[in-house]
Amino acid sequence: MNDNKTPRERASAMPGPVDDASAAVRTLHYNVDDRPFIVIWEVTRACALACAHCRADAITCRNPEELDTAAGFDLLDDLAALGAPRPIVVLTGGDPFERPDLAELVRHGSEAGLTMALSPSVTPRLTSDALVELRAAGASAVSLSLDGATPATHGAFRGFDGVYVSTIQAAETVRDAGLRLQINTTVTRSNAHELPELLRTVIELGAGLWSVFFLVPTGRGDHLTPLDAAEVEDVLVWLGSVADRIPIKTTEAPHFRRVAVQRAEAGGDDPPGYVPGPLGLQLRAATLPEPSVPESRPSGRRIGGGRVRPPLDVNAGRGFAFIDHVGEVYPSGFLPLSVGSVRSQAFTEIYRTSPLLRSLRDADQLKGRCGRCEYRSICGGSRSHAFAVTGDPLAEDPTCVHQAPEGAS
Ligand code: SF4
Repeated sequence: MNDNKTPRERASAMPGPVDDASAAVRTLHYNVDDRPFIVIWEVTRACALACAHCRADAITCRNPEELDTAAGFDLLDDLAALGAPRPIVVLTGGDPFERPDLAELVRHGSEAGLTMALSPSVTPRLTSDALVELRAAGASAVSLSLDGATPATHGAFRGFDGVYVSTIQAAETVRDAGLRLQINTTVTRSNAHELPELLRTVIELGAGLWSVFFLVPTGRGDHLTPLDAAEVEDVLVWLGSVADRIPIKTTEAPHFRRVAVQRAEAGGDDPPGYVPGPLGLQLRAATLPEPSVPESRPSGRRIGGGRVRPPLDVNAGRGFAFIDHVGEVYPSGFLPLSVGSVRSQAFTEIYRTSPLLRSLRDADQLKGRCGRCEYRSICGGSRSHAFAVTGDPLAEDPTCVHQAPEGAS
């Protein structure tokens, strides 16, 4: 493109099917060097399930070295002291419901002005009473995992029979408790073909957001088969084509933002030069037309409404950080390079000063195709996939097919 604008400026001024008619990618209106947009805190690794792709390699008992309630309060106070706009805090695991002080943590964060969300496992602990208590404590949203369109596929991921039905019921319980529902789906070779059916299910469940995660081979997930780069592109382009039906975010596939910009540049069509592969053709063939999606969701509102909520420009260490159960800080939960511990240093200080996080926030330090890419400032590639394959967190993202045109920068 021959204008004087940077890719970031083009992304935020792109005509097309976007929610405010002015952006293909949402960018933060503050300096991400100063504060994250979202912090994921793994409050425990304990979990009753044994999911095939668990990042945490969850265990059945809580680790006595976990951050305790007082240390958790200190962490939340540190985040709240940033002032508005304060980060969103997601309590994850393992299963956060394994912690008896969960409601206390939620209440403390919420009263300090933080937006508190939860990412529990679907176990007998996830009861209506527990969710109502957490809602009363100030929790705003809950995400549940649904990795298959059938009980067999989802059960195989989760390692338990019957968990598909439990998840569908839990989704209803979450909504009934007045909490916003997010559905998380991990995509691998074994379930990618089920995405169109999953889309219908996620919409029918009344979810406000579908988070599609592209498997990074860490934890128990290292024996599952991730998609190759061409298949990832097929999925991202397909997700772009259905993003008017429900808000969609991707995890460990920031090039969804590159696809969003390219689709906007193409007037809502496929990115220039894209030719669907076998998976892309399969996804298109299995996608029912929009009118077949119910107008009225279970929650009584139309989610997508024919308008697209542009993906948000955050990435590992750049608006995003992960804190593990013993207080170590990472750029993401899938990038196992600790940048410090909240036991010895305030999280906010670690986030602002860590040399690794600072380099991850500097798109000009990226290498290979990402370093030459005209979209690097609004994408940056999955640093976790780069590290998993090369051992270098700044290397090119091997899950992206994009080749910058000659002379692009
Ligand atoms: S080459 Fe890297 S920066 Fe460019 S779109 Fe792909 S992943 Fe993003």
